[in-house]
Amino acid sequence: MSGQAGIVIGGGAFAGLALALALRQGLGPEVPVIVADPALATRPSRDPRATAIVAACRRLFATIGVWDEVAGEAQPILDMVVTDSKLHDATRPVFLTFAGHVEPGEPFAHMVENRHLIDALVRHAEAAGVELKATAVESYDARPDGIDVTLADGSRIAASLLVAADGARSRLRERAGIPTHGWDYDQSGIVVTVGHERDHDGRAEEHFLPAGPFAILPLKGKRSSLVWTEKRSEAARIIGLSEEEFLPELEERFGLHLGEIKLLDKPRAFPLSYFVARSFVADRLALIGDAAHVIHPIAGQGLNMGLKDVAALAEVVVDAARLGMDIGQADVIERYQRWRRFDTMAMGVATNSLNFLFSNKSTLLRTVRDIGLGVVDRTPPLKNLFIRQAAGLTGEVPRLLKGEAL
Ligand SMILES: Cc1cc2nc3c(=O)[nH]c(=O)nc-3n(C[C@H](O)[C@H](O)[C@H](O)COP(=O)(O)OP(=O)(O)OC[C@H]3O[C@@H](n4cnc5c(N)ncnc54)[C@H](O)[C@@H]3O)c2cc1C
Repeated sequence: MSGQAGIVIGGGAFAGLALALALRQGLGPEVPVIVADPALATRPSRDPRATAIVAACRRLFATIGVWDEVAGEAQPILDMVVTDSKLHDATRPVFLTFAGHVEPGEPFAHMVENRHLIDALVRHAEAAGVELKATAVESYDARPDGIDVTLADGSRIAASLLVAADGARSRLRERAGIPTHGWDYDQSGIVVTVGHERDHDGRAEEHFLPAGPFAILPLKGKRSSLVWTEKRSEAARIIGLSEEEFLPELEERFGLHLGEIKLLDKPRAFPLSYFVARSFVADRLALIGDAAHVIHPIAGQGLNMGLKDVAALAEVVVDAARLGMDIGQADVIERYQRWRRFDTMAMGVATNSLNFLFSNKSTLLRTVRDIGLGVVDRTPPLKNLFIRQAAGLTGEVPRLLKGEAL
């Protein structure tokens, strides 16, 4: 594998750091892996959000050596209930329940607070010899046999491949002239952590309310992370309320089943949108994570899709290097694009349909979706298929997502 120039990854959040670790493990120390991101200067992370990490992605984190460090902070989702009702309905009939295991002893997902995961990734990347640079990727020039990457601190790096892991507003995607296809939902996800009197017993709840899904996701201890979807203007009004005004609005949706609730951080609103990049690759450039696609958080799959990109790209690059091929050449990264783009489009269609079906007040649609949920609930093989699909274990699964080292 010697003779390869290195790989520069622009963006050192979940996708970028997980890829760096996977490449380091698969390629060995001869091929330099460099991650550049100005946010690396502000660790430890203060990200207040939490993310549902599905089973396949937990296997990836275990294989790259990070899971053990966050396992103590990760809350397994042991079961899940789905309800569908109007805001002021007296009861919330349960239409669908999932007991959450994909294999005996392996929950289909864990809730992990973003700051724990990102800090563990940074520590492991440093320990594994990934070069971390707290500066942005400014520009690049692709040549037939390599790519020259210029960082914001003025330094230049000659590499074989540049990876854009620089998030939804990816400057690297823009510089490559890759357009995106998508739209704005005119919805925001209000995110807040709450403490409650009673134990959640590892139960996740998704309440489909007319404004959109209201998700209660269990965290370690008597705490839950909420993702509460509202129309954008309504979300702005809600997060502008004082705590005394906010709590009654929250209780109306949350209910009283977990006893008294209190806010543990300040509610924040994240604008929701959808897009898929028209191409995941350009000359000596590959897009991963939110730089390649952003989806509605209705199914909690955004980052999980990004981690599938990580696993697929790491696998094609490591396989190519073992064959003595140039890891940035067109047919190598084209294999990555073929693997990931179709799956991404399919997940985009599924989440858009779910959001359309559930974020509206139509009685007809409500009847249709409730019949659908009831059918799934009473058909164990269909339910199992959904669980495996949600856990990332269907289709052509990259080795890292099966828990196999590269
Ligand atoms: C409300 C909400 C809830 C969600 N819940 C879930 C969930 O439960 N499960 C799930 O799977 N997903 C979830 N998601 C999606 C998930 O948060 C994102 O998919 C994920 O954070 C994307 O990670 P990333 O590493 O691709 O990009 P980002 O986290 O956006 O990171 C991009 C990084 O690139 C850096 N950067 C930017 N420009 C440059 C540059 N020029 N050079 C170098 N670095 C640069 C930035 O500083 C940043 O650190 C949710 C999203 C929202 C909004």
